[in-house]
Amino acid sequence: MTAKPGDRVKVVTSDEIKEGILMPNQETDSVVIKLDNGYNVGIDKKKVKEIKLIEKYKEKETHSEKKPKKDSKKPTIAILHTGGTIASKVDYKTGGVVASFSDEDFLSMFPEVKDIANVKTSLISTMMSEDMRFSHYKKIADAIVKEVRNNVDGIIIGHGTDTLAVTSAALSFIFENLPIPVILVGSQRSSDRGSTDAASNLICATEFIAKTNFAGVAVCMHENTSDNNCAILPATKTKKLHTSRRDAFKPVNDIIIARIDYDTRKIEFLKDYTKKNDEKLVVKDKFEDKVAIIKTYPNMFPDLIETLTKKKYKGLVLEATGLGQAPTNIKENIPNYNALKKFINSGGVVVLTSQCIFGAVHGDIYVNCRRLGNIGAIFGKDMLPETAFIKLAWLLGNYKKDEVKELLTKNLRGEINERLMKDEFLD
Ligand code: GLU
Repeated sequence: MTAKPGDRVKVVTSDEIKEGILMPNQETDSVVIKLDNGYNVGIDKKKVKEIKLIEKYKEKETHSEKKPKKDSKKPTIAILHTGGTIASKVDYKTGGVVASFSDEDFLSMFPEVKDIANVKTSLISTMMSEDMRFSHYKKIADAIVKEVRNNVDGIIIGHGTDTLAVTSAALSFIFENLPIPVILVGSQRSSDRGSTDAASNLICATEFIAKTNFAGVAVCMHENTSDNNCAILPATKTKKLHTSRRDAFKPVNDIIIARIDYDTRKIEFLKDYTKKNDEKLVVKDKFEDKVAIIKTYPNMFPDLIETLTKKKYKGLVLEATGLGQAPTNIKENIPNYNALKKFINSGGVVVLTSQCIFGAVHGDIYVNCRRLGNIGAIFGKDMLPETAFIKLAWLLGNYKKDEVKELLTKNLRGEINERLMKDEFLD
């Protein structure tokens, strides 16, 4: 009888025999099995001599592990799942990946976590992160407040990777004086693949919460292509820069906060950070819906900006080129200039950021930029366009317009770095 996903098997190769649960697998050149320690290994199909069936899949036995008793010596971490690859487990029946998590499921997938901390899990949503809306940020924020009141020592948020760094920015604006760490964790490769980064990212985040006094929002993902290190990345200055690499997340105009060595579990801080505190938690969770982000492009027409004015949008992040230039200068582009002027004169706030990703925009170097500044566009310094977008929507949701304009160029949550350094660029 041939083995099916979920069955216990022995995989015999020319140099070794490995026993574990056969996993459904997207990689055609390897066989993936889940070892008893919870980790997946991929075995080169060319080397496989035989797959021996040891035991047919039985749903209950393989899916869950008993919830261990709470150990008062260990910290307690709340794991809030929002969806994405990290919050998924393999459904052996269908071979697909489903997002449904109980404490038991979680511990059977990542057994090592219980050696570091007491964990309790809850499911906030099972969505792909590209579908996130401001209402979801509020839902996550409510769950964070609940767990802070429950006196947990830290929170891990499982999140799809596509907009993980945008949610981290949103959460960091929502909270002032967070007393504990809130670490967003994703995974670039799903748990049916030998190269999954789910377990190491989660374990590193758990170690970081358990062993440090860091407080506030941050991201934990692979630092490089190997499984050796994970990085703790700044919440408002991180970007997903690769579609599939496990080290896709990089700080932009900033450096990582800390590095966790996955093998030795040593934690090294690379910069100053906010420590656990008992200041009063302030929560401002409103966001203005009528905010847009538009990238400028050659041959641009004013239609999009005019629509925003017509639809009474309150804010626009213009992802301009270079130091903050937009196609607003030659005769054919004057309609773009006029459309921006009209948007601002009808009460809209325009923030300029750069498509360059690294570096800052400047209003006073080129005449073209000065013309935009003269009509009231605000130069967003070195803010990432996504962070500027979240900040603008958040400011418009919680502050009066004069304050919005003033606060936009002030550093509130590490989103503006006034002293850019050489090592804050890719090598
Ligand atoms: N688009 C999905 C998301 O961001 C991809 C899955 C993942 O990266 O976790 O949720």
